[in-house]
Amino acid sequence: MKPLHPELERRRRESLYRHRRVSSAQPGVEQQIDGESMLLFCSNDYLGLATHPEVVDAMARGAARFGAGSGSAHLVCGHSEAHHLLEQELAEFVGRPRALLFSTGYMANLGAVTALLGRGDCVYQDRLNHASLIDAGLLSRARLKRYPHNDSAALERLLATHAQGEALVVSDGVFSMDGDLAPLPEMARLCRRHDAWLMVDDAHGFGVLGEKGSGTLELLGVEARDVPVLVCTLGKALGTFGAFVAGSEALIETLIQRARSYIYTTALPPAVAAATRVSLRLARDESWRRHRLAQLIAQFREEAARLGLPLLESDTPIQPIVAGSAERALDWSRRLQQQGVLVSAIRPPTVPEGSARLRITLSAAHSEEHLARLLQALASLSLEAPR
Ligand SMILES: *Cc1c(COP(=O)(O)O)cnc(C)c1O
Repeated sequence: MKPLHPELERRRRESLYRHRRVSSAQPGVEQQIDGESMLLFCSNDYLGLATHPEVVDAMARGAARFGAGSGSAHLVCGHSEAHHLLEQELAEFVGRPRALLFSTGYMANLGAVTALLGRGDCVYQDRLNHASLIDAGLLSRARLKRYPHNDSAALERLLATHAQGEALVVSDGVFSMDGDLAPLPEMARLCRRHDAWLMVDDAHGFGVLGEKGSGTLELLGVEARDVPVLVCTLGKALGTFGAFVAGSEALIETLIQRARSYIYTTALPPAVAAATRVSLRLARDESWRRHRLAQLIAQFREEAARLGLPLLESDTPIQPIVAGSAERALDWSRRLQQQGVLVSAIRPPTVPEGSARLRITLSAAHSEEHLARLLQALASLSLEAPR
């Protein structure tokens, strides 16, 4: 092994070094970060449920009842009643026969793709898909074919050359670093025509989009049968932790038999499942949280446009402002931080070279006053053309 320092030094020089901030006490949109009081616009807790007293209380009661951990994998003896009921409720919410809990979204994606594909098959992926989907494709040993972002014509050309083996098209529903939506109705049509399956990772749409909050498919009017594999995470809008795959009886039974990231890992703590049952009910029934969020998004976009900020096409809570170089994105993020506003700089390789950005995320937990503070801080950055 060669020494590790030179590579770390290079990252530092190129503004690509990543470090962690330590948050303490007081959860929510106003936190103590590295000892300073900060207003956060970088969390994925879109509905403000992570700190909801009923959710927190359900986790505490769940721990008292089931213990702090599950004790084993689901297939050994770790599958509790709390997990089981949550799976049924999630399946019903997204309108599918079954759902299967995974410990994280990363593992759900690895499990689903590797259970469905192998050598000789083909997986088609948007270039901006989440890292966990790309990794899932690589791990499956299927051929990985990537198409330019949201380019259905390019996808169709690739599908037209598909010769043998299974074909699985995989996409984010809401793109995690851009906030835009995949053209799912068009993709579903291509998949039907070319006998491919469509798998959607709706980590950022679930709970947020559609009148019911069931996600991007609901918003775009896509039928469950057109997306046989749906993956959603619980650590974002639902404010807890974990993920699930939803689909047919046969799909879920196949995953139970074959998905290694399901079989060979400890089940989520049942208390987390108990808390998630409560946050699912709140997300479903309290549609005012989605309306409030939509209103904040519209207000942010209107006022940011007035300030001349270079917004991307996004109507979701993810509102990036592209800086260009990693150095510039980091500089913007630091200057916002000096004003008590925390927005993370997203740099390569998370986003393509030359498209480093501030990734602003809005939450139903933000107030008008919070939004005003964000806009005031953004106005103080002099935003010349990206370099
Ligand atoms: C966050 C995210 C994941 C990973 O989910 P975790 O539960 O955090 O592991 C997967 N896909 C997308 C699109 C995400 O944004």
